[in-house]
Amino acid sequence: MARKINIIEVTAKSALSKSGLPELDYALNPYMGCMHSCVYCFAIDFTSNTQARDDWGGTVAVRANIIDVLKREVRTARRGIVGVSTITDPYQAIEGRYMLTRNAVKILAENGFRVSIQTKSPIVVRDVDILRQHPRSIDVGMTVTTMDSKAWRLVEPGSPSPASRLNALSSIQSHGVKTWIFLGPILKGLNDARESIGRVIEEAGKIGTRIIYDRYQPYKGSSELIKGMGLNISDFSRTPENDRWWQSTRNTIESLCDSIGVTCTYQPEEWKYERNVNYGSIFQDNLP
Ligand code: SF4
Repeated sequence: MARKINIIEVTAKSALSKSGLPELDYALNPYMGCMHSCVYCFAIDFTSNTQARDDWGGTVAVRANIIDVLKREVRTARRGIVGVSTITDPYQAIEGRYMLTRNAVKILAENGFRVSIQTKSPIVVRDVDILRQHPRSIDVGMTVTTMDSKAWRLVEPGSPSPASRLNALSSIQSHGVKTWIFLGPILKGLNDARESIGRVIEEAGKIGTRIIYDRYQPYKGSSELIKGMGLNISDFSRTPENDRWWQSTRNTIESLCDSIGVTCTYQPEEWKYERNVNYGSIFQDNLP
């Protein structure tokens, strides 16, 4: 039975926040908390709304005035790359009702920002009319952790199926929008087998998209949930043995990408990929 979600509306003081990720200048999060309730979610530790944080996946706080705040901020904010979103899924089901992500992406793209979307939801297809109008400045990433339905239900219990995500990404790509798949987080003993990784990379090859991948990083909130899944939390700490496992897993990912003909980027090196794409003229044309 579907989990009942408690929706609360809160007031946002700001819309664009400085991002700590080297490939992004800003983050924009229309919601706090996430109905997808992934057990590995690092965002639990970075969610300031206590109701959403303490009832992860069961309560979502809607930053109801964020569009008005964003309209003010874009008048003066330095142009740059905006991650939509970094601590929530911008296209979780309530976006169907609130349309905050749709309106934010439109405002950002029309005002000369570059927008990098990451989601697990096919609802993003609804906004293809906006996405296709800005092929140089918007990209869409879809997270596909595993194609195995048992593993998916275990670690991402509130999320749309991996197959529905891939169909959505394929549809978006067919409209000329830049896309990518986030293969991760890779969890030892869950989705690190060659066969599991290979299935996702093959799907990327069929769509003609690229892969960004990373391992799971333990944070306090997710560690509690991971333990509840029966996974061993010590498998994820930084030990020489775990680092050897990760190097070997990276080798598997890179060699599968090579043999299937898919471009792969290790997430901590994504900023280099971004740097090689020349967005300079987008920003220069649109300085406030
Ligand atoms: S979809 Fe992203 S933000 Fe939402 S619970 Fe999963 S990992 Fe966290």
